Amino acid sequence: MSNDSLNSADAQDERQAIADYGRKMLEQGLTKGTGGNISSLVDGSFMAISPSGVPYEEITAQDVPVLNFDEDVVLGEKKPSAEHSMHMQVYRERDDVGGVIHNHSPYATTFATINEPIPASHYLIAFAGKEVPVASYETYGTEELGTLAVETLSDQYNACLLQNHGVLAVGDDVASAFETALMVEYCARIQYQSLAIGEPTLIPDDEIEHLQEKFKGYGQNK
Ligand code: 13P
Ligand code: ZN
Repeated sequence: MSNDSLNSADAQDERQAIADYGRKMLEQGLTKGTGGNISSLVDGSFMAISPSGVPYEEITAQDVPVLNFDEDVVLGEKKPSAEHSMHMQVYRERDDVGGVIHNHSPYATTFATINEPIPASHYLIAFAGKEVPVASYETYGTEELGTLAVETLSDQYNACLLQNHGVLAVGDDVASAFETALMVEYCARIQYQSLAIGEPTLIPDDEIEHLQEKFKGYGQNK
């Protein structure tokens, strides 16, 4: 982690992305009220993160605090999300991650409350890994919750459940973390519905690895 100074144009772009994706979380039903939080790495050594307890409809780029890796606020007036330690621990441990989203999306959180991973019953689980594992319960906003979540993600997963709480999704940037959070909620819903009418069949681990390779060339990607 370098100790470069903060480029204000880069910070502004990421602060705006956080404001925009907060509204997308609401639109897509991934959260309600002020639940959840979003962060983005800025210039490799700073983190922009949503302000604590501010409704997503109201958040502007100027409201988004920017922290250095000593967790001091270096830009913005608002108090950062209660989960800033969890987000920062992800960036410290995963140098492939540039965006982090936490939410309480209803179907995924249903699995988190029964302390069961979401298994590979739909191929889109591959966005997260071979399943979506569960990090054991800890109080919201604690360093301990962040530590358990990061241990559960390890270098194997792009998402995990937080027991009795919600979801954590990570990606190259906020857009890719958001996409993974959407896929996690979709896969949780399909698994829930499948369990209601029968016994879901599961995709083997080696096929998940194959899918992860194949996704790299999906759509217009070459
Ligand atoms: P913040 O509003 O402080 O980000 O907290 C919401 C939340 O989901 C805590 O886990
Ligand atoms: Zn939460």
